[in-house]
Amino acid sequence: MNGSCWYECSRGCEYRAPFTGVTYRCRGCDGLLDVAHDLDSLKKRTAGDWKTLFAERAASSEWLYTSGVWGKYEWVYPPVEKENIVSLGEGNTPLLPLARLGEQLGVPDLWIKQCGTNPTGSFKDLGMTVLVSAANQMIATGQPIRALACTSIGDAASSLAAYCAVVGIPAVVFLPRGRVSAAQLAQPVAHGALVVALDTDFDGCMKIVQHVTADGSIYLADSMNSLRIEGQKTVAIELVQQLCWSVPDWIILPSGNLGNVAALGRGFLMMQELGLIDRLPRIACALEENANPLDRSCRSGFSEYEPITAQETLASAVQIGNPVSVERAEKILCAFDGVVEQVGEGELAHVAAQAYGAGFRYYPQAGVALAALLKLRLRGEIGPSERVVVISTEQGGRRTGLTAGYHEQAFDGAQPPPANKIVRLPADTDVVAEWVVQALDQLE
Ligand SMILES: *Cc1c(COP(=O)(O)O)cnc(C)c1O
Ligand SMILES: [Zn+2]
Repeated sequence: MNGSCWYECSRGCEYRAPFTGVTYRCRGCDGLLDVAHDLDSLKKRTAGDWKTLFAERAASSEWLYTSGVWGKYEWVYPPVEKENIVSLGEGNTPLLPLARLGEQLGVPDLWIKQCGTNPTGSFKDLGMTVLVSAANQMIATGQPIRALACTSIGDAASSLAAYCAVVGIPAVVFLPRGRVSAAQLAQPVAHGALVVALDTDFDGCMKIVQHVTADGSIYLADSMNSLRIEGQKTVAIELVQQLCWSVPDWIILPSGNLGNVAALGRGFLMMQELGLIDRLPRIACALEENANPLDRSCRSGFSEYEPITAQETLASAVQIGNPVSVERAEKILCAFDGVVEQVGEGELAHVAAQAYGAGFRYYPQAGVALAALLKLRLRGEIGPSERVVVISTEQGGRRTGLTAGYHEQAFDGAQPPPANKIVRLPADTDVVAEWVVQALDQLE
């Protein structure tokens, strides 16, 4: 594969590094690294030709292009050789018009980008395929990497474990003890990862994994590693492609470590630079009010960012008080006229019931995004005829407790829906037929 890219400092220092070595931070200022692409060489293909190429690959059933990430490899990570790519067919996820739910929320032109249909059930796969492929190539070329390690509240661990298992690279995952559901733990365990539960929260795990990976023999697979961001940015390109290259007015996404905000922004900026789009959407970063360091900092114009200790939330994937990509995300929010909106447990539980009622299998993180949408709409920030895309970050059903808790009225400020009771009838055709007709009459 050809084309060139390299690491550069995300804060804009002169520092650059090749991909051949293990490196995570700028030697000059200790800032995080970004992947930089040779845009002049990418500009040799016109915007129209890129669109045609991406469309052809998205329609292809050839291995590798079954991946939405690798169908755009020139923009993502061109140095990888094809034989080193580790793909499970990630990306190419559906963009769903949800007009009925949209009408209920006051934004009929509502779409959901369903990243939950990725191979291990979350958007984390988009980044993990790139990181594990790059590590696989480093190992193949003689780098002494013994294992890959990450911190996770569930989804990243499942993803890393799966991709490593494909090529037999050992995976080590660090989880905050007692915060990860059994359904989520099952995945890394079954894929054979070393699963370590620590008596601390996500932020505490993050610190420990940075020490464990410091000498380079264990490669760091956290989202501070920009290879993950490069894969995740394809979600921006995919969704615009699915809208026939028209840019929506708003993108809303539930955020924790803020890597996804950074990735989404990078995808849009690259499309703009290469002429595929001529405007940018606004980005709304949705936070849970128990894990809202950025919300606090946004009110101060981002000048007084202070990490916090995140409190318990149903939306456990975003229970992060010291987000690693905060600087990257602030830059993106400024460039995209972004907003930060926070929601409470009751608010997200209430929108959950509405979303289920409109056919969308729901989970707490999507609840954070949809509840933020509702608040922004009610405040008039989002207009009634604007086109809104909500990023659904995982599949429903792995973090239990939300629906049950809602029906038990466990959340302050949430109106419980009328109970939907199961009806028991005798096995008698006439009785059943009559009951169905009556029940349908009542719905009208
Ligand atoms: C990781 C994750 C998030 C948060 O993404 P960040 O990039 O950390 O902001 C949100 N939802 C789900 C389901 C996740 O797994
Ligand atoms: Zn620097």
